[in-house]
Amino acid sequence: MLSGGGGGARFLRGLVDAVDPANVTAIVNVGDDLDVLGLSVSPDLDSVLYALAGLSDEERGWGRAAETWHALEAVETLGGEAWFRLGDRDLGVHLVRTQALRAGDPLSTVTARLAAALGLEATILPATDEPLRTWLDTPNGSFDFQHWFVARAHRDPVDRVRFEGVADAQPAPGVLEALHDVELILIAPSNPFVSIGPILAVERIRSALERRRVPCVAVSPLIGGEAVKGPAAAMLGRLEGGATAAHLAQCYAGLIDALVIDEADADDDHAVAELGVRPIVTQTLMRDAGARRKLAEAALDAVALA
Ligand code: GDP
Ligand code: CA
Repeated sequence: MLSGGGGGARFLRGLVDAVDPANVTAIVNVGDDLDVLGLSVSPDLDSVLYALAGLSDEERGWGRAAETWHALEAVETLGGEAWFRLGDRDLGVHLVRTQALRAGDPLSTVTARLAAALGLEATILPATDEPLRTWLDTPNGSFDFQHWFVARAHRDPVDRVRFEGVADAQPAPGVLEALHDVELILIAPSNPFVSIGPILAVERIRSALERRRVPCVAVSPLIGGEAVKGPAAAMLGRLEGGATAAHLAQCYAGLIDALVIDEADADDDHAVAELGVRPIVTQTLMRDAGARRKLAEAALDAVALA
């Protein structure tokens, strides 16, 4: 499964409920990664790790449950950089990761160690071990992902998404194997431009998907033409000309065989089918564990249909 850290991480929880987690590999976006206060932070990888370990704060929608903020308060008092919210518990992961990266371990090795320490059975892979950073060109200037998303609250309309470092980015160890030796490839209900986009921008990942011999099924992050959360619909409108399921299918042209869309978008089914993508209509709001699992099962059923 290709995943970002929000809808992607939640969907992954449903997936490991529906199938043996040992059979699941998540290939996770690293375009959002950043250095904060000298620490290497990988927000999407951490969201996935926390979600699968049952540590996420479900109400806040990011970070860890039972979080406290003493370290960041101290930073702020001292005039340090405090716009990117790092909780005390969360800091533990960033400390361990940063030390290992500085000692020369690749991000994939560090991630595997964190996953094992958290007792996870699924395989969690960064899309690449090389630095790949998402940049947004907007009418108000160019911003790296977190400055656009967090500091500026993704208010600037996006004219272009770029991936710094992508030309040198190779798939992390295990990524191509995971795309080759599987029954099904899933694209999570994540933002197609800034969560899945950076993964697909790695040339050898995209070409592996184009040459796939197994079905690839995406799940739409839209419900009734709106994102459940975040800028996906606004970006689809500006970059693809509309925020329908068909516009989303267009983003994944040549890469997906089926698209799971919400009942509220059922009218888009013909337009999706005209693109050569089989529409699968179901309820897609992951309001609880049962809904997450059902959505995963609907996507998995595509194997039987293929
Ligand atoms: P990020 O790393 O936090 O930006 O997260 P993702 O890109 O993985 O997920 C963000 C997307 O998840 C948004 O576009 C939401 O519309 C979508 N999303 C969140 N919750 C749900 C849900 O319950 N159902 C569906 N279909 N999409 C969801
Ligand atoms: Ca993200």
